[in-house]
Amino acid sequence: MSQHFARRMSTVHRSFIREILKVTADPEIISFAGGLPNPELFPVAAMDAAAHEVFQDIGAGALQYSTTEGDAGLRAIIAERYRKRGLTVDPDTILVTTGSQQILDICAKVFMDRDSKVVIERPGYLGAIQAFSLFEPEFVTICLEDDGPNLEELEAAFKAGADCFYAVPNFQNPSGVSYSLEKRKAVAALADRYDALFVEDDPYGELRFLGEDLPSVFSFSEKKGLLCGSFSKIAAPGFRLGWVVAPRKDVYDKLVIAKQAADLHTSTVTQTIMRRYMETNDIESHVALIKERYGRQRECMVEMIGRYFPEGVDITRPEGGMFLWATMPEGCSSMELLDMAIKDKVAFVPGRPFFVDGSGDNTMRLNFSNSDEARIEEGIKRLGKSIASFLK
Ligand code: PMP
Repeated sequence: MSQHFARRMSTVHRSFIREILKVTADPEIISFAGGLPNPELFPVAAMDAAAHEVFQDIGAGALQYSTTEGDAGLRAIIAERYRKRGLTVDPDTILVTTGSQQILDICAKVFMDRDSKVVIERPGYLGAIQAFSLFEPEFVTICLEDDGPNLEELEAAFKAGADCFYAVPNFQNPSGVSYSLEKRKAVAALADRYDALFVEDDPYGELRFLGEDLPSVFSFSEKKGLLCGSFSKIAAPGFRLGWVVAPRKDVYDKLVIAKQAADLHTSTVTQTIMRRYMETNDIESHVALIKERYGRQRECMVEMIGRYFPEGVDITRPEGGMFLWATMPEGCSSMELLDMAIKDKVAFVPGRPFFVDGSGDNTMRLNFSNSDEARIEEGIKRLGKSIASFLK
């Protein structure tokens, strides 16, 4: 069959993380591998009520085809929530998408030709690497430091002809790193100066449990790139609802065309139920609940790492989001460690797939959102034991 496959399929593989998730389905394994929100916090009863009301009150209208741009009421709610956080957004510049993952596919179609130079963080979000790779761009990676990207590397990339920078400035997946205020301003200024498109992916920005909220890079940019958001981490990922803010009319129109070609529009049913849920529930107190829980779980993970990991393993200390990043001494392969850890009934994601240049072998991603404190303690204890015997 292989002669039938398009060339683009030869370079892209199944997501490594999704493959690991199959191995970790064993209930005895404590898994820090997935990127899953905590299902105990899904608003099941409220969604049930919202769905019921939608079918009672709107009925067939919720089952009809609808516009590509998305439900007007839902877009108004998204804009209003930005306003409360200090950002003015015109609802007509919002496009509702099938998860924020769809924006990455759309962006690739709209902005990337074969061999276009695209800047991503190192490490970078695997889902973006996968979505973009199908369109065969050339990735230019820039080092993600503790307070954001290395600005010299970013400027050099723009000078070398890259005209798009995709990044996750809040509690990045996979590293948990957030950009400082200074670097947010600097990134916006550089993107503006070199006329590059900044694609700001922000599914975790609302999940800050420590420190002060910081404005988006988008808010500092005069030329305005794209700002992507999602209902996955504040409500539930199963709805597959995300959005992109695209203030430039020419850009917005191209995104709409690409989305139309892909799926006509995002599910009317899920949009209508989400809108009703948002109208009839206090989402802010729900988000506060999530932050409180994830904050405790992150605290516990950091403390247990301090207690059970051997010397020589560095970690990030995220102020929000769902992930923490660990770096072992140079030369220690987390791919090899994973085999040992699985035998010890604990799992994580090795860092290498997040580096398109094949580096990062001594790193790993640990998810803290989907395990309670007892499992975090036991899992980190097991992992500490695996690392200690591995480093011997
Ligand atoms: N961007 C980032 C950085 C993510 O971590 C995720 C979820 N793994 C997504 C986008 C996609 O999220 P969704 O499609 O559920 O909105």
